[in-house]
Amino acid sequence: MSAQDLACAAGQPIPAAAPAARRSLQARIRWGQRVVTVGGDAPVRVQSMTNTDTVDVIGTAIQVKELALAGSELVRITVNTPEAAAAVPHIREQLDRMGIDVPLVGDFHYNGHRLLTEVPACAEALSKYRINPGNVGKGDKRDRQFAQMVEVALRYDKPVRIGVNWGSLDQELMAALMDANGRRAQPWPSQQVMYEALVTSAVESARAAVELGMDPAQVLISCKVSGVQDLIAVYRALAQRCNHPLHLGLTEAGMGTKGTVASAAALSILLQEGIGDTIRVSLTPQPGEPRTQEVVVATEILQALGLRVFVPSVTACPGCGRTTSTTFQELAKQIDDFLRAQMPVWRARYPGVEAMKVAVMGCIVNGPGESKHADIGISLPGTGEAPAAPVFIDGEKALTLRGETIAADFQRIVEDYIERRFGAGRAAA
Ligand code: SF4
Repeated sequence: MSAQDLACAAGQPIPAAAPAARRSLQARIRWGQRVVTVGGDAPVRVQSMTNTDTVDVIGTAIQVKELALAGSELVRITVNTPEAAAAVPHIREQLDRMGIDVPLVGDFHYNGHRLLTEVPACAEALSKYRINPGNVGKGDKRDRQFAQMVEVALRYDKPVRIGVNWGSLDQELMAALMDANGRRAQPWPSQQVMYEALVTSAVESARAAVELGMDPAQVLISCKVSGVQDLIAVYRALAQRCNHPLHLGLTEAGMGTKGTVASAAALSILLQEGIGDTIRVSLTPQPGEPRTQEVVVATEILQALGLRVFVPSVTACPGCGRTTSTTFQELAKQIDDFLRAQMPVWRARYPGVEAMKVAVMGCIVNGPGESKHADIGISLPGTGEAPAAPVFIDGEKALTLRGETIAADFQRIVEDYIERRFGAGRAAA
């Protein structure tokens, strides 16, 4: 191609891709000195939910701690019985004793109005209440019981989340919208009526909470469905019709790869459009899988989109016919696990370490190049290559590792690098 052809092909510079700006109000969720801002110019927050019996104070406190240390900035717990409500202040005390100040969110259905009014210590210990408008009561009880919950939120100065879910959609509203649809000259498809019911339930309930005295910024909204395209359609409509902070999540996403991919697909599209102020990944844990996996996936989604940085990233090639051993796969996993496991301590000890990039590559084809793009990288020998692994630090080849202890040696080099670059001594260096 001639220089002239190249110039024509270049034309305009390719614009960089970036998430659109968010437009929501900003909520403040507090516990003690900790204030988690949600919406507005705050970072997109990560939420999670325990799956322990809330009555089990120690078990629940331990899981909340694990979720918080994994990166969850708000943790929701089920409050379904008087015993669970009575346990909440003890869970809070236990967390405070362990130095975990993550705000707790109470998840209420059916009897939230009673539990919040009859167990004031529970209402006080929680930092936010989730209200499901489809489950607050039927007929004339509905508005009264909803108002009772909002009154408690006002009394204790707590934000609320109007959490609509298509599995528990307000059936009276749905029936009314279906009737109205039947009277249209050209009725909408039932899917559109369902979308309308979800959004109307959320927006009207938020409006009712504001009329009862809530600050609009302290009323968050979610409208969860389990289909990716449904979630996108519903949240686009929600974002157009209100400016309350939005909690985003694909409900009942499923297990393992399916749940992870579906959540990432749905959340990424919306976050790129500037929609969503907190996220939760509703994974069904596989047998033996830790509950913290949902936090890992949520943080990875935000990190992949360039919205947040939680842990140093490990770039690893997929391997191919040039890699006949699993050494590089094992090393990539070992380094990834090691970096993630250290983060609860490193966050305080090594400020900025979460932005570090590490490369673990399988052969000479892309190994040196990718390693030079990282802060620290290693290019392992592929099939037929000399048994040597060059290590690149800050874009320069620093040394070559050989022998059986390459993995352990590289881990030590990474630790030394972190200490030198992010440790307390770096200012003096
Ligand atoms: S870097 Fe080498 S081993 Fe890795 S995928 Fe590319 S060619 Fe294969």
